[in-house]
Amino acid sequence: MPLELVTIRCLKDNYAYLLHGPAGTALIDAPEAAPILTELDARGWGLDMILLTHHHDDHIQGVPALVEATGAEVLGAEADARRLPPLDQQVAPGQALTVLGEPVEVIDVPGHTIGHVAFHFPESGMAFTADSLMAMGCGRLFEGTPEQMWRALRQLNGLPGDTLICSGHDYCATNGAFALSVDPDNADLRERLEALQESRMPCAPATLAMERATNPFLRAGHLAASLGMADAPEVEVFAQLRRMKDEF
Ligand code: ZN
Ligand code: FE
Repeated sequence: MPLELVTIRCLKDNYAYLLHGPAGTALIDAPEAAPILTELDARGWGLDMILLTHHHDDHIQGVPALVEATGAEVLGAEADARRLPPLDQQVAPGQALTVLGEPVEVIDVPGHTIGHVAFHFPESGMAFTADSLMAMGCGRLFEGTPEQMWRALRQLNGLPGDTLICSGHDYCATNGAFALSVDPDNADLRERLEALQESRMPCAPATLAMERATNPFLRAGHLAASLGMADAPEVEVFAQLRRMKDEF
């Protein structure tokens, strides 16, 4: 049985995720405590563990109140321990980890920040990518280089196509508009945007296969020619797309 996944809207446009199974409940990122505690209460769940992807306030500032209310243990990247809340468990990329009884792969995804990690749950078919690979987008490059982010995206793109990509923000409207501006003939993209508009559902999670079909940052190869970069390495096309999105 895959773990049960609950998407929680937090702050203005953040997502947090609850994972629940026979072994307990885990939270991925803690933008703020209140909506997460409300969800836990409504479901009658405790909270055993908080997994942190990166150090930005909008992913960690709910930690103290959640720990106080639930006693959850906090887990995050060793390399970023100095700027994360106090960690009960420090992990390194590549390390074998078990969460709620499932093996978890810690993947290094620098770019948005250095020290940003993603958590892949292969048995449940989910990857928590926060501000690396996002729904129809990717995180802004605050600390890393385009080369680093491109490598991170390629690594995530190597996961199975049916993996649910659980990312950190509801940037659907702007990401979708940008995607359409660079990829206007993409029927899958138009269909995704129409379905989102009708349902008003969160735009994450979506399958990796869906991201491959609609996310311009995974489609650098397809978009190179229309950007006049047919002969450029894909990483340069990616860097150009990221610059265009910054100014979009
Ligand atoms: Zn961030
Ligand atoms: Fe963020």
